[in-house]
Amino acid sequence: ESEESGSADPQPEDLDEDGLDDLRPSCRREHKFGGNLHRKISQNSVYLQEWNIPYEQLELGELIGKGRWGRVHRGRWHGEVAIRLVEVDGNNQEHLKLFKKEVMNYRQTRHDNVILFMGACMAPPHLAIITSFCRGVTLYSVVRERASLLDNNKTKQIAQDIVNGMSYLHAKDIVHKDLKSKNIFYDTNKVVISDFGLFGMSGVVDERRRSSVLRIPRGWLFYLASEIVRKMRPDEDEDQLPFSKAADVYAFGTIWYELQTGVWPLEQQPVEARLWLLGSGTGIRRELGQAHLGKEVTEILSSCWSFDSSDRPSFTQLSDMLEKLPKLNRRLSHPGHFWKTQDL
Ligand code: ADP
Ligand code: MG
Repeated sequence: ESEESGSADPQPEDLDEDGLDDLRPSCRREHKFGGNLHRKISQNSVYLQEWNIPYEQLELGELIGKGRWGRVHRGRWHGEVAIRLVEVDGNNQEHLKLFKKEVMNYRQTRHDNVILFMGACMAPPHLAIITSFCRGVTLYSVVRERASLLDNNKTKQIAQDIVNGMSYLHAKDIVHKDLKSKNIFYDTNKVVISDFGLFGMSGVVDERRRSSVLRIPRGWLFYLASEIVRKMRPDEDEDQLPFSKAADVYAFGTIWYELQTGVWPLEQQPVEARLWLLGSGTGIRRELGQAHLGKEVTEILSSCWSFDSSDRPSFTQLSDMLEKLPKLNRRLSHPGHFWKTQDL
């Protein structure tokens, strides 16, 4: 299973040492001669330069929220954007490199169900990631607050869109690592996946994690494959956890469960019990037995949640599985009615 970004991507050590120099118009290509290394560095610098947004050009608006990867603001840059201010110590060259590496990851994503990356502020002290602003609600809210609007067809369509976006990312060798309903936006029938790859930065944005206390943000565990839960230790860095494409598929299983039930699995259990139930796979089996979701729906769920990561399907296979779901919805015979309910 390949992890992280593909081999085509530059490694952090390929990126320029000297912070902003590489972002200046006159690229080193003209000044430094010979040597593949220099050519390589120059090439990466050109890429980075293309995506650099001078901080001064941004109009920072209201704070929308704060997650583990920093604050998100609404803002303007040639229209409405979302600005994620990343708290990376720009004076630390290693940290800066890692930030740029993640930016390199973002730049090559173009898919209808994947958030639009517009650029990044790469000059310390202002480090930020700029994406399109999602007006809609998160899927987290949709399943919990507007479930009445989710019929079988709608659920299937949303799942199919997520699967399409994810199979695209995986084809690019991008592992999401933080796939959850709060990172999926839903706006007038469009599904957009956001925040992929940020986990790769957790080692540099979150200093508190070095406190040798196991920190489990609310709502995180439900999406973690058992092989990850079993590796969680207070002294283990989060970015060393065994994330993989198969672990993304596990997380999708949880989203599929949320779409069906409107809640997280084992939501009522205290966190210690959940750690055991999820880590051992016991809880998942119990949940599957009790949920009564119907044969086909359960099949998808149990395959995504397979204890052994190699038993989980790929997103491409999931797409076929979803396609084969029987059309149970009676409203289908009234197509007009179905389409009028799409005003989420
Ligand atoms: P989380 O994903 O755990 O909710 P984040 O740090 O990713 O935390 O997001 C913080 C807040 O900003 C959330 O309310 C999220 O919905 C919102 N947000 C993040 N990205 C965007 C975006 N591109 N458009 C609109 N809102 C966003
Ligand atoms: Mg998020």
